[in-house]
Order: sequence, then C-alpha cells, then structure tokens
Amino acid sequence: MAITIERDRGIQRQSEEEFGLECPYCGVYAHMAPQSVPDFDKLEETRPKHVGLVYQCDACAAPVFLRFAVKQFSESKIELYRNFIELERPKERFQFSYLPNRTEVIFREALACYSNNHFNAFASMCRRAANSAFEALGENGKLRAFDEVMMAQDIAELDDVSFEPIKKVLFEHSEGEDLPLLNRAQAGVLLEVTKDMFYQCFVRRGKLTRAIKVRRFFVQEANGGLSNSA
Ligand SMILES: [Zn+2]
Repeated sequence: MAITIERDRGIQRQSEEEFGLECPYCGVYAHMAPQSVPDFDKLEETRPKHVGLVYQCDACAAPVFLRFAVKQFSESKIELYRNFIELERPKERFQFSYLPNRTEVIFREALACYSNNHFNAFASMCRRAANSAFEALGENGKLRAFDEVMMAQDIAELDDVSFEPIKKVLFEHSEGEDLPLLNRAQAGVLLEVTKDMFYQCFVRRGKLTRAIKVRRFFVQEANGGLSNSA
C-alpha cells in the first residue's frame, strides 16, 4: 500500500484495496478513511522526516492517528513509506475487577506493555502479576495455578520445548535475571496462558459465586414475598 500526498489532490493510494486496521477504540477490524491530512505546501516548506495522518474508523467514527516516514519529496507529490506506526494500539482486555487489587494493578500494566510491543517488559510484569496472584491465593495457590497452566498446555497442544519459557516466566521465583527473552510469538502464548490462569483462578470463581448469590437472593425474596402475602 504505497501512499502519496499530492499537491492538488491530497492523499492518494496506489492500489484500490481497502485500508483496514484493528481500531484502538472499538476493537473492530474496520475500514479506515483519511480524515485529516497535512497541508502539502507546509510539508514542502518544512520537509519533516515523518508525517502524521488521522484516519476515521468506519465502525465507530473515532479518529485513529498514524505516523508515516517520508520516502521522498518531489515537485508535485510526497511519497510515504508503507510501514506506519499506530500511535494508539488496541488495548488487550480482561475482566480485571475479579482480580485481587495488587494483581489487577500489575496485570493492567503488563497488558499495556504487550499492546505497545514491549514483550520482555510484558514478561517481567507477568511474573510480578503471577507472584502477587499466588500470594493472594494462599497456601497451595501456586500449585493450583500450575495445574491450570499444565491443563492449558494440554488443551492448546503446545509442546514442552516451546512451552518451557512460558512456565519459567510464570513459576520460577527469582527477581528476574533468569527470565528468558521472548519474541512476539512466545509473548502471544504467554498472554493467553496468563489470562487463562487468572480466569481459572479468579474470574470463574468470582462469577460463579456471584451468580449463585444472586439466585439465592431471588429465592429468598420469593419466599419472603410468599410468606408476606400468606
Ligand atoms: Zn472503531
């Protein structure tokens, strides 16, 4: 997708294919239409190395900011490199309210690291989040969490070799110098496994006890109502 800004015609794309992105606001993979394009004459005059464009998400109409590096200036057009930087990345979501407070704070920051492609910062924060979760789970909590992770490995059919770094990040105890370096793919697995572990240890339990409490409440209400009317 080569993009040029032309003197009289504004932004032009070399191919007819639709330009789509995962929107950082609504999370939908949507078509993006140019909303705000810098003035050609101003760019020509100042010749910046980077150019910022604002697109509009077709699904939710939010503005999406992208930064492109300039490839070359010529008489009538400015050519941009096809790779761009998304200034706001889609956020990873989780039902944070079910987590213990400390774990919630740390895991939120862990997911922010992941969204910004800081995969090793993400791994460090996953270890901190896991440790705080084990503490909150109390005796045998770590063992229980380990069982859940083993089950996740089994369900997802991940082999031992590729799963080893994930286990190391979550369950080895030191301050972090032993953390393996993760690439994007491994960080993606760590993300899903950690979410699943927290889901099994906290969210599932929290949802179930809340749902049962609500059922009991309505039964009591109904009984109370009956005895009042009797
Ligand atoms: Zn959107």
